[in-house]
Amino acid sequence: MKRTPKHKPPGPDTIDAFVRIVGASHAIRDEAEMAPYLVEWRDRYRGKAALVLKPGDASEVSSILKLANETMTAIVPQGGNTGLVGGQIPFESGHEVVISLERLTHVRDIDLASNTMTVEAGLTLAQAQAVAASAGRLFPLSLASEGSAQIGGVLATNAGGTAVLAYGSARELALGLEVVLAGGEVWNGLKSLRKDNSGYDLKDLIVGSEGTLGIITAAVLRLFPKVAEKVTCMAGLDALETAPAFFARALERAGPALTAFEILPRIGVEFVLRHGQGTRDPFPSPHQWYALFELTSPRDDALLAPLAEFLLARGIEAGEIADAIVATSLSQSEALWRLRELMSEVQKEEGGSIKHDIAVPVASVPEFVARANRLVELMIPGARPVPFGHLGDGNIHYNVSQPPGMERAVFLANWEALNAAVHEIVLDLGGSISAEHGIGRLKRDLLPHAKQKIALDIMRKIKAAFDPNNILNPGKLL
Ligand SMILES: Cc1cc2nc3c(=O)[nH]c(=O)nc-3n(C[C@H](O)[C@H](O)[C@H](O)COP(=O)(O)OP(=O)(O)OC[C@H]3O[C@@H](n4cnc5c(N)ncnc54)[C@H](O)[C@@H]3O)c2cc1C
Repeated sequence: MKRTPKHKPPGPDTIDAFVRIVGASHAIRDEAEMAPYLVEWRDRYRGKAALVLKPGDASEVSSILKLANETMTAIVPQGGNTGLVGGQIPFESGHEVVISLERLTHVRDIDLASNTMTVEAGLTLAQAQAVAASAGRLFPLSLASEGSAQIGGVLATNAGGTAVLAYGSARELALGLEVVLAGGEVWNGLKSLRKDNSGYDLKDLIVGSEGTLGIITAAVLRLFPKVAEKVTCMAGLDALETAPAFFARALERAGPALTAFEILPRIGVEFVLRHGQGTRDPFPSPHQWYALFELTSPRDDALLAPLAEFLLARGIEAGEIADAIVATSLSQSEALWRLRELMSEVQKEEGGSIKHDIAVPVASVPEFVARANRLVELMIPGARPVPFGHLGDGNIHYNVSQPPGMERAVFLANWEALNAAVHEIVLDLGGSISAEHGIGRLKRDLLPHAKQKIALDIMRKIKAAFDPNNILNPGKLL
């Protein structure tokens, strides 16, 4: 772990000065009280901190960063603490200060004519969706972690989820940002413009920067018409190889009405049926793969059900899919989605799981899965690949569950070697080693191998321009 030698542990005077900025009731110094901020939900990363600060507005964030910059104190921004790459967790030194944005929850503006809302960074994603819904609009970003993940966090990680196919990832959903920079300056970029070609896009630099370039305190988010009609379908496939053709057919015919297209392997569905309460097999007989897709429209006369029937019939005729279901009720639709939503969680019940969050071109997904599966069998015979996810974006969560009966720790000792080998395949296919979860601590050392040197050099120069003292989330991402 590379750390800049310039950082200093905050002494008692500095700590007191930090506390004065937010007030004693919003600063945590007690180790036990700090604990929830120092461990992530899977317990993969644990750290220590000198202090946890909970500022109440952007000007307090600004004062904190100004002081941190002057005293060379390293800062770790934290949102809902649901990130999967450890970016929000401090290291073990105990010298860093965690800044939680949880008190920044105001809705500053809703502009129905511009179809935007301006919200503060600590609002949870679920709260932001509810604000949009109460204004008669849709905020489409949706993640299984939305009850805790915050707007600042989803923007800092450029989160994706199941609706990226139609609406884009967090980046495409933000028009403007308010960001506190490392020296304490506040950049007010809260514009609600769809068009702004006035130079380098600072918003796009901050989105996905994982707390290394600035602290997001508010954002202008895009709103969309509410969904009035929705049809959820599941197709059973005998082989993954036909999935891209079926997806292409669905996209060609349904266009923007196709708002999600996910794939699930049989083994994953079996895990869900085994461990997920109240779940049941949707088909009378098993299939090797399943495609779960959804058609939606803001119109209530869009006739999506006949369109879905047509797509499925053509898919069967073409030999792309073997069987199909169209959900005829909301509860049936929810039951189908539950199979997908539980896919990650139930893997815990099957022992250790080595994870990859990768993207390859959609057409290369079957080749990627076939090559990776062969590799897994060679490296860890009996290990069980559970590749699932967003086929429509080429983003596959290539998770591998341990062989039954193997010691969990023995299996997990293969994590780095398996990651490296799987990532070789990803890079060979022109893909990315991090599709939506980011780099954080988990993939930081993999980045030099996965990115061109020139790209990394530019990224380092950008970091130095924004944060010359490297006080913002040092040791993460870069
Ligand atoms: C069950 C589950 C399902 C998930 N599903 C998906 C999914 O489908 N798609 C997907 O993309 N991700 C998914 N994620 C991970 C996803 O990255 C996070 O849920 C979310 O984007 C992080 O938001 P957070 O507020 O929890 O941020 P945190 O975890 O607190 O922080 C994440 C990173 O952002 C930085 N950060 C946080 N807030 C700010 C801020 N205000 N300003 C600057 N930097 C900040 C942190 O320093 C850290 O580097 C999932 C996670 C879980 C636990």
